[in-house]
Amino acid sequence: EAARESYAKRNPNSLAAFNKATVFLPGGGTRTTLITLPFPLFIESGSGATVTDVDGHTYKDFLSDFTSGIYGKSNEVLKNAITTAISSGLQFGAHTTNEARLADHLTSRFPSMDLVRFANSGTEANLLAITTSLKHTKRKKVVVFSGGYHGSLLAHFHSGEPAGNDVPGALRVPFDFIIAPYNDIEGTKALINPVAKDVGVIIVEPMLGAGGCIPGDPEFLQGLRDYTKEIGAVLIFDEVQTSRLAPGGRQSLLGITPDMTTVGKFFGGGFAFGAFGGKKEIMSIFDVRRPDHVNHGGTFNNSPLTMVAGSTAIEQILTAERLADLNDRGDRLREKLNSALGGAGAPFVVTGLGSINQINCHLPKEDQLTALELVYFGLLERGFWIAQRGTLALNFEITDKDVDEFVEAVVESTAAVVKAT
Ligand code: PLP
Repeated sequence: EAARESYAKRNPNSLAAFNKATVFLPGGGTRTTLITLPFPLFIESGSGATVTDVDGHTYKDFLSDFTSGIYGKSNEVLKNAITTAISSGLQFGAHTTNEARLADHLTSRFPSMDLVRFANSGTEANLLAITTSLKHTKRKKVVVFSGGYHGSLLAHFHSGEPAGNDVPGALRVPFDFIIAPYNDIEGTKALINPVAKDVGVIIVEPMLGAGGCIPGDPEFLQGLRDYTKEIGAVLIFDEVQTSRLAPGGRQSLLGITPDMTTVGKFFGGGFAFGAFGGKKEIMSIFDVRRPDHVNHGGTFNNSPLTMVAGSTAIEQILTAERLADLNDRGDRLREKLNSALGGAGAPFVVTGLGSINQINCHLPKEDQLTALELVYFGLLERGFWIAQRGTLALNFEITDKDVDEFVEAVVESTAAVVKAT
């Protein structure tokens, strides 16, 4: 309570903005994960690696919009490309050559995508990939994993709950879901075997992102690859987050090729984006030259601005070298944090891969959410922006010095919480 009071005192303009927003928006916003209590901070501007709120506080951004903000706030290359694109016209209701340019880049980077189609979010890409797989296999059941996210409408845990839980509270599309245990291939097979002939698709994150940054074991992911071949189901890797780990995503690092892949977030170069792609025999169902083709529309699927921004980002920013550098910095961040926090068995442990990480709390379950909230307040007071649930993602503007300062701030913030509990 004391922490919430001092937060409210520090942020009167955000409180006023929130009170106004609740008049028009249920809960005062349109992204549940961002609506923290007693009220979220409202950001006015950003520059480089920082964001500034409506009360004038500036924070170093260690959230990077849940991985999508990989470019920082003011990337000159993107700004120039977008400005040029804007001056050529906003919307045409027609195709542009930049659509194939972006598709060429994505299919080159992801050999699992012979053909690709665009959408406006990762959620939409996953909904389309699942539906396409069911159409292809003429089967009904969809396997997801406990702790999997895949986007609003597909979440299999409650935002804010620790990974591994499957609790009600998500607005879900009525697919015929089976929820299998993550990182447990034998448990998964045992669950699916009795109904294997009805299973059309298995969708998996190579690392649980929103579910706590838990990397998938290579044997588990390879096991899914072998098993889906055996039962004739489509395997989808949801690389909406993990596609920042290397140019070809985590699948390229593991040498596992799924039948379909979904991406989104940063590949839109700062604009709303999603893409789903896969084997020719699956994706050619959208080929209008086929008499039996199916339709897939979307007014902004090929937004000229997004096509230019995404292509430019891949060509000039998301290079193999820069991604390796970003992910090395993320590995160092995780190692430094864990060694400073006390390592395995400590009340706070950081999990993740490369530039995508999560502070997890191992205090007794009833204290976990409060503890993470207090750590969040502690980091805000020290000038760092993360997700209240503990999500950390780096962006290209963060330096090694920022990382060291952040580690210090986390150590201080978590120590205060441990002392209080
Ligand atoms: N899949 C994963 C693994 C994600 O982390 C997310 C978003 O965080 C999504 C899908 C959904 O993407 P979007 O928020 O663009 O709908």
